[in-house]
Amino acid sequence: MDDIILITELNDFIFCPMSIYFHKLYGGMDRVLYQDTPQLEGTAAHENVDKGTYSTKRAILTSLNVYCEQYRLVGKIDIYDAERQVLRERKKRIKVVYDGYYFQIYAQCLALREMGYPVKKIELYSMDDNKTYQIPLPEDNGDMMRKFEKTIEDMRSFDMDSFTQSNGDKCKHCIYSPACDRAR
Ligand code: SF4
Repeated sequence: MDDIILITELNDFIFCPMSIYFHKLYGGMDRVLYQDTPQLEGTAAHENVDKGTYSTKRAILTSLNVYCEQYRLVGKIDIYDAERQVLRERKKRIKVVYDGYYFQIYAQCLALREMGYPVKKIELYSMDDNKTYQIPLPEDNGDMMRKFEKTIEDMRSFDMDSFTQSNGDKCKHCIYSPACDRAR
């Protein structure tokens, strides 16, 4: 795998490492062709941020490209409130705060800090039910940070040729299943 990791791939890797391959493969196609409805809705949830329409206040940064030198991760933040020093990631609907959500927001937090933006608070926001989840800062969540680092190590040493999927349930719910030779 490439040395630089996309922050969004942290979550994909936990779901299934093969999904990163397919995501890249279909990356240039019209999303409607291969995304299912929840994913499209999730994409729409980010659209007003991507178009820079979330706020005209100077203290709010949206869709900022970030890079974390320490872990060699690159990506984009959703919303950063520079006055309150709050990093927020909005999702269409959060049922469970999965490890992958922690990894993504921690990567964003670490990158922001390296770039000189202090982060004192992290929030995940579920748009459908208007719920905010307060997330402990990376330095206050040693267990999750160890998992984060282990996942990055696993990604860098991942060997696609020898990969087999042991969890058939994932394949049943995977949009790449028809094209995937590891589907069970
Ligand atoms: S079909 Fe299964 S093995 Fe293939 S990408 Fe999806 S979850 Fe992974």
